[in-house]
Amino acid sequence: MRGERETQGMSAGVRSVLWGLLWLWQAVGALRLRHHGYEDMVRTLFKVQRECPFITRVYSIGRSVQNRHLYVLEISDNPGIHEPLEPEVKYVANMHGNEVLGRELLLALAQLLCEQHKLRDPRITSLLQGVRIHLLPSMNPDGYQLAAEQGYGKYLGGRGNARGVDLNRNFPDLHLIPLQADSRGGRNHHLPLADNWTEQVEPETLAVINWMKSYNFVLSANLHGGAVLANYPFDKASEPRARGSRRHPPSPTPDDKLFRQLAKVYSYAHGWMHQGSTCGEYFPDGITNGAQWYPISRGMQDFNYLHTNCLEITLELSCAKFPPARELPREWAANQEALLTYLEQVHRGIKGMILDENGNGIDEAVISVDGINHDMTSGLSGDYFRLLLPGQYTVTVSAKGYKSKTANVIVYPQEVTRVDFQLVPGIQALPTANLTEIPGNPQPSPQGLYPIPHRSRPQGL
Ligand SMILES: [Zn+2]
Repeated sequence: MRGERETQGMSAGVRSVLWGLLWLWQAVGALRLRHHGYEDMVRTLFKVQRECPFITRVYSIGRSVQNRHLYVLEISDNPGIHEPLEPEVKYVANMHGNEVLGRELLLALAQLLCEQHKLRDPRITSLLQGVRIHLLPSMNPDGYQLAAEQGYGKYLGGRGNARGVDLNRNFPDLHLIPLQADSRGGRNHHLPLADNWTEQVEPETLAVINWMKSYNFVLSANLHGGAVLANYPFDKASEPRARGSRRHPPSPTPDDKLFRQLAKVYSYAHGWMHQGSTCGEYFPDGITNGAQWYPISRGMQDFNYLHTNCLEITLELSCAKFPPARELPREWAANQEALLTYLEQVHRGIKGMILDENGNGIDEAVISVDGINHDMTSGLSGDYFRLLLPGQYTVTVSAKGYKSKTANVIVYPQEVTRVDFQLVPGIQALPTANLTEIPGNPQPSPQGLYPIPHRSRPQGL
C-alpha cells in the first residue's frame, strides 16, 4: 500500500511537470521551427488566421510567374481596417528565393503574435493596438521552390524569380529623376513613375509596388541572408569609387541619421549582429550604408524611400543563405526581440491629423521638415506619420487650395508627439523643405536654433 501511495504521489508530480511542459509547448507556440515549402507556408498562414481570427487576415497581393499567390498575413486589433493615426508597417522576406531564414522568422513571428495575444501579453496587446502589421513571408515563392529542390550546400539557384530575374534589381530606378532635377533644387520624395512602369517589372515586383500604393506604409524591413548586418539606403552609389580604394563612399539619404538609428535598433536587439564581425567581414555596430557595402541599382529600399512614405532597411540575417533546420531555433532566439523592437520604432517622431475648417481629413497634404529634404504626405483619412529623432523641428504642412501652416515641435525619445494641423482655404505657399537641401537631420543647438542652411547638392542621388 505504501508503495502504491508513493507511486500515486509521484505520478501526480510527474503529471504536473507534464502539464507544465504542455503549457510551455502551447505558449511558445507550437513554434515548430522547420523549413516550410509553399503549401506548408500557406497552410501555416491560414492556421494562424483560424487560431486568431479577430486579429488576423490573410490576403494575396498578386501572383508569381508560376502562378503562386503572394500571401500576406495582416495582424492588428482591427484587421482589414486602417484606423486613423495607427501606422501601417510591413516585413518582406524571401525576395531572393534562396535566402530563406526571413521566411521562417516571419512565420514564427506570426505564430508568436497570435499565441501571446491569446495569453494577453501586455507588450503584444499594446503593439497590436497601436500598429497594423503586414507580413509577406515570401516575395519569391518560385525561386524558393527551386532552391529547396537542390538540397543543402548548393542553393545558388533560386535567387531570381522563375525567369531568373533578381527582384532586388527590378524596381523602377527613380534616382534618374533627381539626378536631372537636383541642380534645380529638385525633390527626392514621391517621385513619379514612368507611364509604362508596369511593363518594366516582373509580376512579383508589380504586386509589391501595387501593395505599397494601396497602404500608407510608414516603416518596413526586407529580410535577406548571406551576411549578418542591417543595411540602410541608399543602395545606389552617388559617386564612383575612388581610385585605389576598396570601399565605395556612402550614399546617404536626407534621413541618414534616422536610418542609422533604425539599423542600430535592429542590430543591438539582435543576438550578435551588433558585434559586426560575422561571416568574415567587419561592419561597425553591424550596420552599413547600402552603397558603401556594395552599390546596386533598382533595389527595393531605395524605391520605398523615393516613391512612398515608407522607410525601409534591408536585414541580412545569416551567413548561410539556406541554413539547416537545426539552426532555426537559435536564429529565432537571436531575432525575436529585434523583430518586435524594430516594429515599435514606428512610434517615434510626430504624427497627427490634417483637417480642413470643417474637421474633415485632407489627404495628400505635404508634411515638410526644415533641414530634411524629404517630405511625407497624409493618408486617405488625413493622418500623417513623420519618423524623427529626438530634437526640435520646424514643420510645415501644405495642401492644394489651402494656406500652409508651420509649427515648431519637440520630439522626445521613446514616444511620438501628436501634432494636428487645421488648414483654411487660401493660396498655398511654397513648401520650405524644398528650399533647404541639407542631407541628414538638423542639429539643435542648446538655444534651440539650427545651423543656417547652405545650398548644396544633395548627396546620394
Ligand atoms: Zn538577398
